[in-house]
Formats: sequence, structure tokens, C-alpha cells
Amino acid sequence: MILRAEWVLPVAREPMEQGEVVVQNGVIVDVRRRSGMRGGADVLDFGEAVILPGLVNVHTHLELTVLRGAVEDLPLFEWIRRLVELKEVLSEQDWRDSALWGALEAAASGITTVADTTDSGASAYALLQTGLRGRVYQEVFAVQPDQSPTKTLSELEDKLQWLHRATRGSLVEVGVAPHTLYTVRPAVLTALREHTRQKGYPVCIHAAESADETALLQEGKGKFAQMYAERGIAWETPGKHPVVILQEGGWLDTNTLLVHAVHTDSHHAELFVSTGTAIAHCPQSNAKLFNGVAPLSEWLTHEVKVGLGTDSVVSNNTLDMFCEMRSAVLLQRATRGVHSCMTARKAIEMATTGGAHALGMAERIGTLEPGKQADLCVLSLNGAHSFPTYDPVTALVFSARASDVLMTMVAGKIVYRQGEYPLLREPVQNLRERLRHTMRRVWETLSRDGTG
Ligand SMILES: [Zn+2]
Repeated sequence: MILRAEWVLPVAREPMEQGEVVVQNGVIVDVRRRSGMRGGADVLDFGEAVILPGLVNVHTHLELTVLRGAVEDLPLFEWIRRLVELKEVLSEQDWRDSALWGALEAAASGITTVADTTDSGASAYALLQTGLRGRVYQEVFAVQPDQSPTKTLSELEDKLQWLHRATRGSLVEVGVAPHTLYTVRPAVLTALREHTRQKGYPVCIHAAESADETALLQEGKGKFAQMYAERGIAWETPGKHPVVILQEGGWLDTNTLLVHAVHTDSHHAELFVSTGTAIAHCPQSNAKLFNGVAPLSEWLTHEVKVGLGTDSVVSNNTLDMFCEMRSAVLLQRATRGVHSCMTARKAIEMATTGGAHALGMAERIGTLEPGKQADLCVLSLNGAHSFPTYDPVTALVFSARASDVLMTMVAGKIVYRQGEYPLLREPVQNLRERLRHTMRRVWETLSRDGTG
């Protein structure tokens, strides 16, 4: 199969005008200037468009998609409390439908790889149904005293075995996500570290996201501390910064993905580099939940491994990685002025090869190069907002939208093309109808509680 467009953006090298990508058996075999006018059944010519590597979204919670727009204008602490209440309303089927809708949005937005943190496990099902590549981190919460290390590990292992069975032979990998340092008790964290290391599981953890989190961990103060006291949850303050706790607990290594890391400094950046720890940078979610702007320029100067993530649509509210790239650049420039080193090119690298490196998948994906998996997307430059295009790199970051995506391909298979999902086993309309019912139930809960 030959894919042609006005521009090809391999990311590994300069953009190519009038280029084509040759795909055989799911692998890229050539990236070159177009070889002639020859058409045919095996040639897809997208014309005024750009072909780029599939986007790597390094942090999502696809199962929360049905709650898009349900929890608004609240800072992190209140936001989490509200979210936990609404999660109670959802059934297993709701989780699956919700995650599937999120996976469809990802595919339609040019995302080919998703690193998802899941409580219900539903995102594995969603990625498989849609044909996306990904890693599903099974989430662990253990703040209650009756959640002993043994009990937590045994429940976790059951869930992981299920995930392994469900994803065997697929493009979806399995990992473990202790939720945060304040929702998993230290004894459980120690047991989890031992377990994940022994079994070689990749790890993902939310850390240094909010000022309330650092206040709790460093000083035993703030909203989280107050809530634990009110609920009678025994909480011993470590008296340390989250990154120091992670370092001392042996969590910082090449198999760990830290999500957010907003409240960190250059000393922490050096630690991330020396240990090979990767960061999932979620600029829009950080800003929306009033958590601040992460030191991205610092990370890039230190050459920390950084990928870009949208986070869930409850804190964003879309999976639009083009918009996320734009925010990543603009927030750095707005807060750091000319000291920011963020450029459009760096944003695209972060959303593709940066994400691939952060997930340890760079040998397979992240750039358009012979030998790599044919994970790519095609974006129209035809819209009024994209014309004229002098440089596809700046056009992608400063003008493009997810809705400009014409086609998304994973390992040579088309997973999205102009409104259609070829691998999906049911009509999209059926799924949408079921989600409408779920939404009504969520709406009733919101109305009953006087927040709708
Ligand atoms: Zn998250």
C-alpha cells in the first residue's frame, strides 16, 4: 500500500513535500518523494494533507469518557471527590461503553497508541475493539486500613491475569498504576514495588500534581489531610516531597512513567534523567484543575524523557492532541517568556517519538522510518483554518484540530477513515444510544445532589 500527500512529516527528519509512505505487512518499508503519478487500488492519495506518525497519548482514563463535562470548574481536591461519587453510578457495561467511546475518539483524533490508567479494566477491551496500540495500567487504590498488602496484591494479580488473557497476542500491553502516594498506603506501596519489579511490570503513577498533595506529604496539612482526619483514616506524614518518596521507595527507573510532576524543580529533573524516569506531561489538565504549569522547558533542557498526555476528558475535555501540543507551547511561552525553549517542532516530537520513548516503544513506533510499525495518521490541510500552509510543523501545532484527521492506521490496519471505524464490531449509533442512557443516570445524580 502506498499513502501519498502534499506533505510527509517523518519527525525523524525534515518534512518532505509531495511525499509517500510505502507500507507492507503492517510495516513501513519506504518514506520517499512521490515516485510518479501512478494510481491504483493500492495507492491512497490524500492530496492537500500531511502524513505524520500516529500520535502517542501517554496518559488517559478512557473509562471516564461518559463523564465528560460532568465535573466542571472545581480544583483537584473537590474534583476528585465529585468524580468518586459519580463513579458509583456506573455499571460494568457503562465502563466498557464509556471506554470504547473514548477509544473511538482517540482513533478519530489521529492517536495510534494510548497509555491508559484503568480501574475497571475496560480500556483494554476498548483498545482491542478499536484496533489501537496501547498499554493498560491496572490502577490500585489502597487507603483504607483493611486493604492489607497481601489482600491488595492478590486482588491485583487476579485483575492482571484477566488483562493478560484478554490482551494475549494483541497490540495491548499490561502494567500497574498505584494511583498516587496519598491513595495507596506506604506498606502497600512497598509490596507493590517488590511485586512489579519481580514480574517486570511497567509502572505509572500520578505524582506532584497539586499543591494540596505536596502539603499533605511534606507537612501533613491541607485539604487531603483534613479529609483523612474527618474520615478517621490514619495517615502518617512522610514529611518529604513526592519525588523524594518515590526515589527512596525505588520507583524512579526506566520502567516508570510519572504523571503530571507539576510541582517539581531542577533537582528533580536531574533525578529523572539519571534514573531514566519518564514523564507524562498533561498541560491542559494541569491548568484546568488549577494545578499550575509544569516545568517542561526545564525537563527538555535536561533531556528528560517526556511524552504528551491529554489525561481523561473529565479534566480536559477532549483527546485532541493537536490542541494539547498548542497548549504545551503556549503555556511555556506565557509563563517563561523567551526563556522557554518550546517550539512547534519540540511539541510534535513530544506527541510522537517522545511518547514512544517514554513508554519504551521507540524501536517500534514514534517516527515514519523503514522498519517501524505502520502507525500513522493523515491530517487534512484543506480547511479554511489551515490554508495557506508554509510549514506543516507549525500548521499542525498552531492551526490543526483533531477533527481534521482523515485517516488513522495502526500496524498497517486502518482503524479510522472519514467517520468510519472498520474494525468496530457494532454500529457506532448503538453505542451512542447506550451512552445516552448512562448519561441520563449521571444527570439524575447531579440534579439530585443540586449540582446539575
Ligand atoms: Zn490521570
